[in-house]
Amino acid sequence: MDEIETDVLVAGSGVGGIMAAYRAHLAGARVVLLGGSGGASGRISSMNTALGYGPEDTPARLFDDMFRAGGYVNDPTVVAAFAERIGQETLHLAELGVPFASDGDLLVRRQATGSTWTRAVYTMGLVGVDISRCLMALLTAADPDRVTVVRSGLLLEVSMTDGRVSGGLAYVPRDEGWLRITAGSVVLATGGAGQLFRNTTNPRGSRGTGYAMALEAGATLTGMEFVSFEPFVSTYPVEAKGDDLPTTVLREGAKLRNGRGEEFLDTSRAPTKDIICRAMVREVREGRGTPSGSVYYDIRGMAPEAVDRYVQIKEALNSRGLDSREAQIEVMPAQHFLMGGVQIDNEAASDVAGLYAVGEVAGGAHGAHRLAAGGGMEVVVGGAIAGESAAAFALEHPTPVQSSSSTPRPELIARGRSTKEQSQLTRIQAALEEGCGILRNADELSRTVEAVKEVLDDATRLGQPLVRRAALVGLAIARSAQLRTESRGDHFREDFPDRNDATWMARIDVAANGAGLRFTRSEVYRRSHTDASDSVATFIG
Ligand SMILES: Cc1cc2nc3c(=O)[nH]c(=O)nc-3n(C[C@H](O)[C@H](O)[C@H](O)COP(=O)(O)OP(=O)(O)OC[C@H]3O[C@@H](n4cnc5c(N)ncnc54)[C@H](O)[C@@H]3O)c2cc1C
Repeated sequence: MDEIETDVLVAGSGVGGIMAAYRAHLAGARVVLLGGSGGASGRISSMNTALGYGPEDTPARLFDDMFRAGGYVNDPTVVAAFAERIGQETLHLAELGVPFASDGDLLVRRQATGSTWTRAVYTMGLVGVDISRCLMALLTAADPDRVTVVRSGLLLEVSMTDGRVSGGLAYVPRDEGWLRITAGSVVLATGGAGQLFRNTTNPRGSRGTGYAMALEAGATLTGMEFVSFEPFVSTYPVEAKGDDLPTTVLREGAKLRNGRGEEFLDTSRAPTKDIICRAMVREVREGRGTPSGSVYYDIRGMAPEAVDRYVQIKEALNSRGLDSREAQIEVMPAQHFLMGGVQIDNEAASDVAGLYAVGEVAGGAHGAHRLAAGGGMEVVVGGAIAGESAAAFALEHPTPVQSSSSTPRPELIARGRSTKEQSQLTRIQAALEEGCGILRNADELSRTVEAVKEVLDDATRLGQPLVRRAALVGLAIARSAQLRTESRGDHFREDFPDRNDATWMARIDVAANGAGLRFTRSEVYRRSHTDASDSVATFIG
């Protein structure tokens, strides 16, 4: 087994991980970046920011939008830290060469669904790809003694010594090699857990390992019941199933129609995605869907030059041989993003010394709903903060000697999974799809929790750590959703359809507890005005 010593170990090279590695390097730390396989960042088409171009274009307004969309259960200190810094990080990326669309010296922006202001920057390709390419070029050009990029490396275990992080065990599938990394701090940037659902927009790398490793290291997860769904995922024809189409077009002439050709949702006020998803599901359930059980994404009214700014739409039209002036694409929602994750503070620190989290694996910034174009914002600014914090921690605290043995753990690798293990993972997917979808209720949730618990018990008894990890994450989601007996953001309970601030201005936190999980409820910051202006004044400087 190869051994490396470094200051900061970053697991995952989506935009969150790359940004963390870049900032940790600038802060003077040695960095190892493990690449994983393709993540969601490659699909980011627009990203919220606050550039101060006008009186409305402020961190305070962005904070307000995020806090309101999140149902006021986000951590306001995290939202404030992100809102205040995203403008400067965006301009820094532009200086580094990210080709944001611009008009003269000013970046042009579009209005993302759920936002009250036109603040999402974009490039003419996919902004996530452009940011990754730009930063990865800087990292690979850095002194190899300071920055090591392990292209497809996977973190399989976070090592702990005397209650703090001391590195990790990694596997590199390309050369079937094992790596023991000693590090002063670890940044989890491992993305989401979409692959635990049957229908998801997430790529193969979104397996949820980061949440499980965090639990095993002793960290707390929070808000796991809040799962968002992407409304416009193509359902027909079968060969083009799964294309994700942008929601920002609702501000640019596109319409949403049922099978009878009727518009069924007022989109003039840029409703959040959770509202769009529920309206779509109800339309189909009540018999007004298309022949394939979907609704129409109608872009016939969009100006051709507006269509031209969207790579995803152009790809969808090309694959169907359609012109935008005749295009009505059948769509339905699919699982998209976990708002919950490793509980972080405004320095991206978890409650385990030396463990940091950024991006989808982190929880706290979005509360009950993530704004469209809020994922890109989170990874850029959260990555910058996580990288700097992890560097400061590693440089201030001597790296401990690892107590874990340097033994490979092949049982933690997905390759070679048995048919039995695969069928248990399929059971988790079916259970989460049933109980933790867009419309939830006690009966379905109870069946889901029982099914996932059974898989967890079997996996523990049979010694199948991969299935166990998936079941732990599935249980964190399902049991949290069962406990929250109200509706808020993306968590909609048919049996409790109203928001209940009296009881549920609260977080549900999850921690490891022996072979299972412990769930606790804690109060969150309570705003006193419905427009949240008091919160803006309290948290934004
Ligand atoms: C189809 C789609 C479209 C989207 N469009 C937008 C948009 O337009 N605007 C927006 O703001 N947001 C958008 N999002 C959300 C956005 O993509 C995510 O919020 C963001 O990319 C998350 O970045 P990340 O760095 O946390 O994770 P990812 O980009 O998913 O990267 C995580 C990486 O970690 C790797 N990994 C996993 N486990 C391990 C491990 N154990 N060790 C090492 N590596 C590991 C994965 O393989 C992956 O490469 C979209 C998401 C999807 C799926």
